[in-house]
Amino acid sequence: MAKYIFITGGVISSLGKGIASASIGKILESRGLKVTLMKLDPYINVDPGTMNPYQHGEVYVTDDGAETDLDLGHYERFTRAKMTKFNNATTGQVYNAVISRERRGDYLGKTIQVIPHITGEIKERIKKVAQVSNADIVLIEIGGTVGDIESLPFLEAARQFKVDAGEKNVLYIHLTLVPYIKVADEIKTKPTQHSVQTLREIGIQPDILLCRTEKPLADEVKEKISLFCNVRKQAVIESRDVESIYQVPMVFKAQILDEIILSHFNLISRPSDLKDWEKNVVERQLSPKGVVRVAVVGKYIGLQDAYKSIYEAITHAGISNQLKIEVRKIDSEDIEKLGPEELLGCVDGILVPGGFGNRGIEGKIKAIEFARKKKIPFLGLCLGMQCAVIEFGRHLCGLKDANSTEFKSKTKYPVISLLAEQTNVKDMGGTMRLGAYPCKIKKNTLAAKVYRKNIILERHRHRYEFNNKFRKLFEKKGMVFSGIYQKKDLVEIVELKNHPYFIAVQFHPEFKSKPDAAHPLFREFIKAAATK
Ligand code: GLN
Repeated sequence: MAKYIFITGGVISSLGKGIASASIGKILESRGLKVTLMKLDPYINVDPGTMNPYQHGEVYVTDDGAETDLDLGHYERFTRAKMTKFNNATTGQVYNAVISRERRGDYLGKTIQVIPHITGEIKERIKKVAQVSNADIVLIEIGGTVGDIESLPFLEAARQFKVDAGEKNVLYIHLTLVPYIKVADEIKTKPTQHSVQTLREIGIQPDILLCRTEKPLADEVKEKISLFCNVRKQAVIESRDVESIYQVPMVFKAQILDEIILSHFNLISRPSDLKDWEKNVVERQLSPKGVVRVAVVGKYIGLQDAYKSIYEAITHAGISNQLKIEVRKIDSEDIEKLGPEELLGCVDGILVPGGFGNRGIEGKIKAIEFARKKKIPFLGLCLGMQCAVIEFGRHLCGLKDANSTEFKSKTKYPVISLLAEQTNVKDMGGTMRLGAYPCKIKKNTLAAKVYRKNIILERHRHRYEFNNKFRKLFEKKGMVFSGIYQKKDLVEIVELKNHPYFIAVQFHPEFKSKPDAAHPLFREFIKAAATK
C-alpha cells in the first residue's frame, strides 16, 4: 500500500513548494523507493491551457498530452516519475466530474455537497495516481497558501485522507516563511505560528515544517517554532536560500529529512545516495569554466515562470558544457523599436520560444534574420520555428509578406497554416495538437548529428504547422526539412546549411531536459554558442 505525503504552503506564495516537493521526491527515490508526485490546483479552470502565461506561468505538457501546472516540470526534472494527466487536478476538473455524474443521474435522490462529494472526488483522484504509478510514496502538493478560500476542499480532503488511509500512512509537511527583519536584525516566527494555527483549525497538524529563510535558524528559533507549532524540533527543517535549486535535496538530506519521513511510515530502505547528483549537477553548475551569453527573444519576458522549462533547459545545457549562461531576456517588441543590432549585437546565441498571437512577431522575425545573417547560433521552438519559416519565405524565397494564418488569415503566402485536423475545432480548451508524437530524422543533417537517433519522441502544443505547399520552393532555396512526422507528413524540424547552428523545431524539447541529462538540442546550441 502506498504512503501519502501532503505538502502545503503558508504565509506567502512563491516559496518554492514545487521545488521542495520535487527535492523530497528526489531523496526518497535515491533510497530505492518508487515515488510519484501530484499537484492539486485550486483554480476553477479545467487546466492552465487557456490561461495567459502572465497569470499562471508556463503550461507544462506531458507525454500523454495533458496541459498542466509548471510544477510537474520540476517533478520530472528532479525524479524519474513520469507525469501524466492524472498527476494534476484542478477545482475545475473535480467539479466538472461531479456535475457530469449528477446530470447522468448517478446521485439520484441526493444533495451534492462539498463534503463528501467534492472531497470524495479529490481523494479518488489521489488514489488513482497511487494506483496507476504503483509508487511506494505519493507526494501531493496543494497549490495556493493556507487560508485561501479556494483551497479549502483540497485541505479538507487531505485531512480526511489520514482517517481513510491510516495514521501511519499519511504525513503532512508545511512549507512556511521565517522572515528576517532588517531594522530589528531579527528573524520572526510569528507568521509561521499563524499559518500553522490556520492549518490546525482545518484539522491538519503538520508533522514536518520546512522553513524558508535567508538567515540560519538558530537553535532557540527552532525550539520556539517547535513549541508553538507542536512539531518536534528535529522536524523543524531549515530551508535557507541556496545558489542553485538543485542543491535543495542535499540541504534536506543533511537534516535527515528522509529519515524522519521513513520512520514516520515505518519504512526501511537503503541510505540515500545523492553523490552522482551532487557531482554531475551541482558541482558542475557551480564551477563553470566560461561564460556564454544567450538571448531569449519572447513576449512574456517580465515573468520568470513564463518560460520556466526553457530557462531550466538552458541551465542544463550550461551544466553539461560546464559553462555559466547569462540569459538576456529580450522583449521582441523592443527589437521592433530599436532594431536587432542594438539588443543582440553582443550575444553568442539566440533562442526564440513558443507563443500565441500577433504581438511581438515582427521583432522575433527580425531577431531570426539577424541570427541567420550574422551566423549566430539559433534555436527556434514552436512559434520560434514558425517565425524562422516566415523569415526564410520573405527574405530568401521572394514571398513578400509571407505569414502565418494565425496572424494574417488572408495572407497571400500562408507559409504557416492551420493543421488540417484543427479546421473544425470550436472549443479552445485542450484541443491543440498535444503530447508526444514520433518524428523521423533525416540522415546527414544537423538534427541527425544532434540526436544521433532515427526516430525521436517529442511533446507538442500547437494548432499551426508548416504549409507543405511551399516545401519544394523552400527546399530549392536551401531550407532543410530534417524531421518529419511521417503519419501525416508534417514538418517537425527545419535547419539551414552554411551556418554554425541554425535549427528550429515545431515541438517543445525543453519539457524533456533534465539537469543530469541536458536535452541534445540545447546542449549543442550552447556548445555552438561557446564556440562562437
Ligand atoms: N501559436 C502557434 C501555434 O498554435 C505556436 C504555438 C506554440 O508556440 N506553442 O501553432
